[in-house]
Amino acid sequence: MRQVYLGVLLLLFCGCSVQRTIVEKPIVFDEQRIELTKQYLSQRYNLEQETPQIVPKMIVLHWTAIPSFEKSYAAFENSTLPNWRPEIASVSGLNVSAHFLVDQDGTIYRLMPETTMARHVIGLNHCAIGVENVGGTPEMPLTKKQLKANIWLVNYLSSKYNIEHLIGHHEYTFFENHPLWLEVDDGYRTEKTDPGEDFMSKVRRGTKRNNFKPVPTK
Ligand SMILES: [Zn+2]
Repeated sequence: MRQVYLGVLLLLFCGCSVQRTIVEKPIVFDEQRIELTKQYLSQRYNLEQETPQIVPKMIVLHWTAIPSFEKSYAAFENSTLPNWRPEIASVSGLNVSAHFLVDQDGTIYRLMPETTMARHVIGLNHCAIGVENVGGTPEMPLTKKQLKANIWLVNYLSSKYNIEHLIGHHEYTFFENHPLWLEVDDGYRTEKTDPGEDFMSKVRRGTKRNNFKPVPTK
């Protein structure tokens, strides 16, 4: 009797939670990218490491501002920065990337291992998992399906790692005086608006159970 009851409960539980899968779509992570990532850790953060591994403590949400999955993926795929980004190429030749890319239909793609460093947020890459969302332009705003996928992904990652902070990319400079902030150059900053207050407050509502620490005030 008890087992039947448990079975019904499980069925009910599975019935209301969305079944999700993560699609593996790895970007290039060759010797060159590994070397550039280790160099980045050393030059930007004074972290000398044998491997470009990170211990995730934070999740940073983004939008790509690129209006298709293919073009967004292409922007992260190669090891070195394309020449249309000279403003950040002087700091490091390592291409930008993120651990996840969420398409407009809510499909979640994993681009690289969660514990390898991606270049997606100044000062915090050594501890931050990056989640990019396709779109974010006025013509292609982020969708409800992306919102739901981000909520699921944040909860999934928080059950896997000791995640203390969830932030939107536009909030990253609030960490300048935080112990996690390691960027050595006070002049190296970029202005960010992604993914915006509205999206962040909705994701925060859906991930409340993780009790993330508040964003520091300056
Ligand atoms: Zn961003």
